[in-house]
Amino acid sequence: MKQVYFYDEGDGKNKKLLGGKGAGLCEMTQLKLPVPPGFTITTQVCNEYYQNGKKLPKTLMAEVKKNITKIEKRTGKKWNSKENPLLVSVRSGAAISMPGMMDTILNLGLNDETVEGLAKKSNNPRFAWDSYRRFVQLFGKVVFGVDDKKFDVVLENAKLNQAVQADSALNEKSLKSVVTEYKKICEKHTGMPFPSDPFEQLELAIKAVFGSWMGERAIVYRERNNITKDIADGTAVNVVSMAFGNMGNDSATGVVFTRNPGDGTRHLFGEYLVNAQGEDVVAGVRTGKPVDEMKIEMPASYKQLEQTCERLERHYKEPQDIEFTIERGIFYLLQTRNAKMNAVGMVKTSVDMVNEKLIDKNRALTRLHAEQLEQLLHKTIDSKSIKNYTLLVKGIAASPGAASGIAVLDVKRATAMGENGAKVILVREETKPEDVPAFFESVGILTSRGGKTSHAAVVARGMGKPCIVGCSDLRIDYDNKQFSVDDKIVHEGDAITIDGSTGSVYLGEIPTTEPKITDDFKTILEWAQKVKQLGIRANADTPEGARLAREFGGQGIGLCRTERMFNGSDRIGLFVDMIMAENIEERKKVLTKLGELQKSDFIEILKAMEGYAVTIRLLDPPLHEFLPNPEELNQKIHKLEQKNEIAELEKAKILLKRAKELAEINPMMGHRGVRVGITYPEIYEMQIRAVFEAAAELAKNKVDAHPQIMIPQISSIAELNHIKKIYDNIKKEMESKYNMKLKINFGTMIEVVRAALTANELASTAEFFSFGTNDLTQGTFSFSREDVEGKFLPEYMDKEILERNPFQSIDVNGVGSLMKIGISAGRNIKPDMEIGICGEHGGDPNSIKFCHNANLSYVSASPHRIPIAIIAAAQAAI
Ligand code: PEP
Ligand code: MG
Repeated sequence: MKQVYFYDEGDGKNKKLLGGKGAGLCEMTQLKLPVPPGFTITTQVCNEYYQNGKKLPKTLMAEVKKNITKIEKRTGKKWNSKENPLLVSVRSGAAISMPGMMDTILNLGLNDETVEGLAKKSNNPRFAWDSYRRFVQLFGKVVFGVDDKKFDVVLENAKLNQAVQADSALNEKSLKSVVTEYKKICEKHTGMPFPSDPFEQLELAIKAVFGSWMGERAIVYRERNNITKDIADGTAVNVVSMAFGNMGNDSATGVVFTRNPGDGTRHLFGEYLVNAQGEDVVAGVRTGKPVDEMKIEMPASYKQLEQTCERLERHYKEPQDIEFTIERGIFYLLQTRNAKMNAVGMVKTSVDMVNEKLIDKNRALTRLHAEQLEQLLHKTIDSKSIKNYTLLVKGIAASPGAASGIAVLDVKRATAMGENGAKVILVREETKPEDVPAFFESVGILTSRGGKTSHAAVVARGMGKPCIVGCSDLRIDYDNKQFSVDDKIVHEGDAITIDGSTGSVYLGEIPTTEPKITDDFKTILEWAQKVKQLGIRANADTPEGARLAREFGGQGIGLCRTERMFNGSDRIGLFVDMIMAENIEERKKVLTKLGELQKSDFIEILKAMEGYAVTIRLLDPPLHEFLPNPEELNQKIHKLEQKNEIAELEKAKILLKRAKELAEINPMMGHRGVRVGITYPEIYEMQIRAVFEAAAELAKNKVDAHPQIMIPQISSIAELNHIKKIYDNIKKEMESKYNMKLKINFGTMIEVVRAALTANELASTAEFFSFGTNDLTQGTFSFSREDVEGKFLPEYMDKEILERNPFQSIDVNGVGSLMKIGISAGRNIKPDMEIGICGEHGGDPNSIKFCHNANLSYVSASPHRIPIAIIAAAQAAI
């Protein structure tokens, strides 16, 4: 297998083999752009290096030598020469760029003899010795792992001795003694002489670059950015002849973007430094000048830079991020890669490049990272201010956006303070449905338990409020109204800031920036709407949610969780009364009142979604979730006993008894969904009636409403038929009451494994299916959706037992297979059956791709994720 590719022979498209940098250099060389000669050692060699117990393949260095000879021929310089020495840079380069995460060595090939050659040839001994000291320092750090500070001390002393301030003011003599000192530091560290043979240097440098692939920085970066083995497996090594930007005032080095990465506008954006090496710019040792100034200072080179940028953009059809060096007036391109831009920049350049006829609309859509567009839809932390604040802790990023406000640990206090206009961040161990009123009044939610599909996460996402969950290092002390992380204590009332996009919690109130929905973004969404095939619906249970969804381009509601409607502060009491009712008559009385409230809620939502389907799901959670938890009740009882408040005490005791009766060890698999509907039929009857009443009233008022009723937690056709009978009776009753036909589709969720497996039976009754992939994932893995993320899941991902969080991105092989069984069974019975997805996966780009390929009718996502879903659906269709 070929181990080394000279730049004029490598395939510029093969980033996997040559790494991004190597492939780019091959491509540019073959385009006849001014790239210094060099070669790439493949990523496969990196893998062999690790397979062989960190040994280079035996034949590698012979190959390397052959290619060094080629460089010699191209440059006229000689390896290890005292006259005109060839020096090289040795750089990492994986298939995906990982800026600053791996190692680079410059000026390799210098020793006590070649440095003299360089001095002579360049006619600049100071430059030669400066290059040498840079080489020894970088080599010492990267290859031997010497602490950089040791070198810094020597350099500082040299400046003191010579009484100068800048590194660039050090003279040849000082630099010579710095080199001697630097070598001594290395020799002390390794116990061996500093290597002077350039091939020995090169071999060590290649090993060090391979070694940096498994360095901690690089591993963490790959984890954070989801760079899995199938995306990038090992780093390549680039050996390139040096071009010197530090040969005098006619030399320079710089980094430019062909378009502004902050806002996408079309102009060269970047910095350059005269008489400097690339590392100075990248490491920020010296501050560069804006590249615009080069127009005046080095007009000919600027012109070449401009032309090169144009050519590269035309070739790659992407804005580029370029490194260049000018050696004595000669322009060299050292690297090009697709520019990393923020979401605003990506969107603007997509639209602009279509207008410039550089790309077509499909390419404009596929080049976007759907996930990144989230930035455009939520408040973000002001990036300039962030450095002035302390990061307190990190949890699971559950609902994006930033919020700052005062921490409040109690639901009632949070509600009251929020109503009075305070910006409140609700901090709890976990939340329950009865806490929802406090969500409305809070600007953000932070919990120490739970995962991405826990109650707090799901509710917050639905409301578009920033939320962090599973922040397990947070110790909450309700009694003393404070929480802590290690020895840092935050008292209720202290200001905190949460970033639900990253999971970070900060002390203090950090300014936030408002989202921007630019005209360009609207244009992109219009293009996406035209190509996508999937329908996009919203998970929404309020008229505001429905309106927002529509504004963002949503076409219907795929999941209206009716239990949320019981959580308003004007009705949670009624719902508790219903649960506490001692007999059926009493319960029905309360249910009549609740029915009126539900009917008016449905009317508002159906109006907001006029013209589109609204899927109303009947009550799902177990009843005890609406009661206070027994622990809190016990505390309350204790206090009431002390105060001797007999009447209140009696009430609390009855409540506690009922809460205990209803409590379950495993509520997620307990008395919930259709099981409640069967055992307390009056609840489902009330809800079904409320839907029909709302539909009839809207029909009278000529509102084009399309409600449909969906039953949760179905596992058998018998359950579904049981509820269907209730539905049929009410339908008959309502149609005769209003003297009109009412078309309200009756369907089921597929969220229990057995439902997926018996979908053919269910399809005989159900008019539509909707996959509840939150519960379906829970059931398929037997992972508790409430606990998993705070417990073993992170370790599973670390150890690559799971590649992705299955609650976030569909587990294609498991859950996906069940879905396929369900889809084909359903469509076998009813070929045009509407089948959608309403689990959290409905807003995840990877899952959306799966849904598109599986021929689903629609995906349903939180209103705030709808634009992302639209773009992801378009990308799947292209
Ligand atoms: C699901 O299980 O995927 C679903 C949408 O229902 P919930 O999250 O309300 O259980
Ligand atoms: Mg569910």
